[in-house]
Amino acid sequence: MRWRWIRAEPFYERVERLGLHGLHFQHVTLCERRAWMYFHGINFAQWHARVATGTAKHQSSYARDHSVEGLMGLAPDRINWDDRIVYENKGTGGAVEASDNQTAFYAVMLSIATGKGWRAVTHVLSTRRGREVPLDANRLESLWRASERLEELARLEAPPQATRIRLCDTCSLSGFCGFE
Ligand code: SF4
Repeated sequence: MRWRWIRAEPFYERVERLGLHGLHFQHVTLCERRAWMYFHGINFAQWHARVATGTAKHQSSYARDHSVEGLMGLAPDRINWDDRIVYENKGTGGAVEASDNQTAFYAVMLSIATGKGWRAVTHVLSTRRGREVPLDANRLESLWRASERLEELARLEAPPQATRIRLCDTCSLSGFCGFE
């Protein structure tokens, strides 16, 4: 049976028009200011030691799998084409909602593109365990709302005000937000 979601068409259109990909959905769930910075190419992760270390760990643990070649714009870490499962690797099991929105985004886009339902699994490197992310009504609504907010953020000329949250301690943008 063909995979259906009533918002599939407008969601896809918005993703294409704004050039959205998985990390937008992760960032907007974590912090809207961070999402705005990401939209506008302000990203100092390469100079931030903690992030740089995490990136190296991520790359050496799971070099990008050949299964994801040719996906044109989507960049999940691994795909099981036979069983229609998309995997995204995360270093730890934290920031569950944000990580799972990113993984679910890939599964939704593949479901829209193929017309068949895909499963999403967030793979936690520190525990070597997978966390299933069901594409249920709540998850789809969460992605839809995130895409609406991303559309609003794309129109903002200045970043939204910063409110200090726990993530600020490890965020590569903490210097810009005055939270170092
Ligand atoms: S430092 Fe905090 S407020 Fe600023 S972008 Fe990062 S998470 Fe958001």
